[in-house]
Amino acid sequence: IFDVLVVGGGPAGASAAVYAARKGLNTGVVAERFGGQVADTMSIENFISVKATEGPKLVAQLEEHVKQYDVDVMAGQRAAKLSTDNLINVELESGATLKARSVILATGARWRNMNVPGEAEYKGRGVAYCPHCDGPLFKGKPVAVIGGGNSGIEAAIDLANIVEHVTVLEFADTLRADDVLIKKANSLNNITIIKNAQTTEVLGNVSRVTGLRYIDRVSQQSNELTLAGIFVQIGLVPNTEFLTDSAVTLTQFGEIDIDNKGATSLPGVYAAGDATTEPFKQIIIAMGSGATASLGAFDYLIRHAQQ
Ligand code: FAD
Repeated sequence: IFDVLVVGGGPAGASAAVYAARKGLNTGVVAERFGGQVADTMSIENFISVKATEGPKLVAQLEEHVKQYDVDVMAGQRAAKLSTDNLINVELESGATLKARSVILATGARWRNMNVPGEAEYKGRGVAYCPHCDGPLFKGKPVAVIGGGNSGIEAAIDLANIVEHVTVLEFADTLRADDVLIKKANSLNNITIIKNAQTTEVLGNVSRVTGLRYIDRVSQQSNELTLAGIFVQIGLVPNTEFLTDSAVTLTQFGEIDIDNKGATSLPGVYAAGDATTEPFKQIIIAMGSGATASLGAFDYLIRHAQQ
């Protein structure tokens, strides 16, 4: 029986595990892939106090830090179900069930992909998902933003300060973003918005993105844009499907609803990072919320759990 079982081994899970272990709690981490989204990241320049690093390097450091403590890391395992009796049970896809007095959910999120040819091939080589992270890499160059919802238009406004020109491609005939954002985007002379545009292919020269192809859904005409970067902003999907039938409350977007101590609706179950209602999705924020959830769980254990 674990005192604290962390589900997820990204920055939020790693931070939660270190904080729990340092309280002398019997701590386990179950993670499909240790490192999470960080493992897919090329350059990281906003992890404060580290001027620049690379995803795989930071993952190795996270692992090293966690393993410095007596933490049971179970990698390559997926949680399939969460239930409670007098303890909290995390059922794994392998069929095993882990039991814990408290659980920290840190299963992160995944960016929704366009699923067009070239996207996967040029990921990290011009195809990007996070304007806060990768915007400065395209300084003075032309980029596109795919998606005209709030995140797409926010990304376009953000990028317009840095890059040469932003073309927003929206599939529908209207933008779904808030009016105030649309007005702001329309007021900037280096943003062009194209509606009814279906991206069909990411173009590149083997080493980097050079543009994209889209179809005008009204005229059915195929067009090409010359670009250095493509920011895909069509949604961030929390990895919380396994909680659908549990007593943990999710929002309409599938995010785990947490309070300011990281507590979910289910006593003893805490959550942190991109899988939650935490508004901004960044490494440093995920680590902070992992620490919060872990201290929240500790607070819960000293008040409620029997030894
Ligand atoms: P994740 O990193 O998503 O980790 C989730 C963990 O849960 C993983 O271990 C995963 O395997 C595991 N998991 C998921 N489902 C299950 C399950 N059912 N059972 C068991 N385990 C499960 N942020 C920055 O601050 N700076 C950057 O430069 C930056 N660049 C980025 C570049 C890219 C390409 C991407 C995709 C993201 C980038 N981000 C960046 C965002 C940052 O990576 C995330 O905000 C951060 O990783 C979130 O941490 P997390 O621990 O909440 O989730």
